[in-house]
Amino acid sequence: MLPSVLSDQFAANNQRMQVQCDNCGFGTLYVTPLGRCPQCGEDFLRMEYDLAGLKAAGWVEAMQKRPAMMGLWRYRELLPLRNEANIVTLGEGSTPLIHMKNLGALLGLKHLYFKDERQGPTNSFKDRQASVAISVMQEQGIREAVVASTGNVAIAYSAYAARAGLKLWAFFPSRVPNDKMREVALYGTEVIKVTGTYDATKAMAATFAERKGIYYDRGIKSLAAMESMKTMAFEIAEALGWRAPDWFIQGVSGGMGPIGVVKGFEEFLALGLVDKVPAIGLVQSSGCAPMVQAFNNGLPVAVPVENPSTIIATLATANPGRAYQILWDMMQRYGGAAASASDEEAFQTTKLLARTDGISVEPATAVGFAGLVKLVREGKIKPDEVVVFNCTGHTFPVEKAILGDRWAKQVDLSSVEKQERLPETSLLNSVQTLASNVRRVLIIEDNEDSARLLVRILQSSGNYKVHVARDGVEGLAMVRNVHPDLIISDLMMPGIDGFQVIESLRAEEDFHDIPVIVLTAKELTVQERSRLNSQVDSLLHKGSFLNEDLVQSILEALN
Ligand SMILES: *Cc1c(COP(=O)(O)O)cnc(C)c1O
Ligand SMILES: [Zn+2]
Repeated sequence: MLPSVLSDQFAANNQRMQVQCDNCGFGTLYVTPLGRCPQCGEDFLRMEYDLAGLKAAGWVEAMQKRPAMMGLWRYRELLPLRNEANIVTLGEGSTPLIHMKNLGALLGLKHLYFKDERQGPTNSFKDRQASVAISVMQEQGIREAVVASTGNVAIAYSAYAARAGLKLWAFFPSRVPNDKMREVALYGTEVIKVTGTYDATKAMAATFAERKGIYYDRGIKSLAAMESMKTMAFEIAEALGWRAPDWFIQGVSGGMGPIGVVKGFEEFLALGLVDKVPAIGLVQSSGCAPMVQAFNNGLPVAVPVENPSTIIATLATANPGRAYQILWDMMQRYGGAAASASDEEAFQTTKLLARTDGISVEPATAVGFAGLVKLVREGKIKPDEVVVFNCTGHTFPVEKAILGDRWAKQVDLSSVEKQERLPETSLLNSVQTLASNVRRVLIIEDNEDSARLLVRILQSSGNYKVHVARDGVEGLAMVRNVHPDLIISDLMMPGIDGFQVIESLRAEEDFHDIPVIVLTAKELTVQERSRLNSQVDSLLHKGSFLNEDLVQSILEALN
């Protein structure tokens, strides 16, 4: 039960909500969730609220006083439900906005945040959609419904449908991982696998619903979906101190997330709570990227992809239709950029997120972050900008493909147990074998954050004993003490800089063979480059290299 602070004060406003068609101008009082526009057939209608009236009646202040535990229903006057008695909730919304300190440092972004949608009741941002959509069904007296899904919508809907006592049929393209379908079945939903694309699955589900005469959830085209997503914008604005970020970035399939978020910021702008709407960073899977292709070719209409070739089923909308046109318009108005990332890049990024900032995500989310990295490298996202990444979800165990087979080290103690005698020595032998490959690495770096980050990357990627020197003088002294197998050095440091460190090492017989990897924050001049060239094993640019690049350079240098 929600606290009854959701009092009658604004209840009348929910009787005045309007549905609007931007295509032909048709408008009507919101009583039931319409399908298409009755006048022109437009698929996407728009909810309109009496924002000026709410503002004048003190809604902003009242909303700000409501506790976070109310989740997205804190904004219930801006959601398409007429009577709060119909709310079906599991505590969705109010997810934290978390500063990505390490990855921000790695990418050279000072204000990089992730909206942690993994913390919803079924671990993805589809919980918002499910709560609003199932509440609306409850209000309409709908007792049975059909949904088509690539996984997460069905999982979320199933949980909320169970709670509301509503019978649900879920249609999946057969590419969806079995783990996701099994979870849906657990909630008591009827599971139907369709051998075909996601778009074909949607068509089949719609036909089935029509034949059986039951309600078909129109997904992104339903008012509930779009309206639910905008609550992310409201929460982001509050977490940033009633401000909009410069960017909202997401791995996109149908586009519901970013479209809803833009509408949310537009409403907060109208209420005077923020002063702008963020630009959209649109990221798709390379194997199915109709929107990214269209956007980067300057086209307002996307060409459907014939054969989606990605194993990330969550992002496999081949024909975005009108949703892309809406996004295109928004990105023309507020700014935007688009990038795509391959499955392989997504898997690498999954590891990067987990090991660098402790965030375990599913591949669809990793695609989004891989795209963010590209937009930073292309200079489209600037170092000082406030960037919010939608950490959309982590609804099932990571696929085997990500870690490969060698994710654990094995110690075989069976022979030890049989010997009985001197088990300690054998155990010690095993431990020594484990520890014998330790390589000594010396980091010479005056920036504390960078040094900490490098230590962390090394710790998570192998057996290294890491020493840190704060400047060139200390670095040269430590080379003598530690005899490192490898040196990773910054170039620009006070006192003796990286150039001098390398030159004096190369002049000494004992040390001139130690491989050196140089990290630099600035573009080098031609002279600087030639000064370094023959002397270092690898040169990486801070703020643009990723863990994998560094680890690759380390492995090459040590071989
Ligand atoms: C649904 C989903 C997406 C794609 O969302 P859209 O905004 O509809 O394109 C991305 N990631 C995850 C985890 C999802 O569940
Ligand atoms: Zn119309």
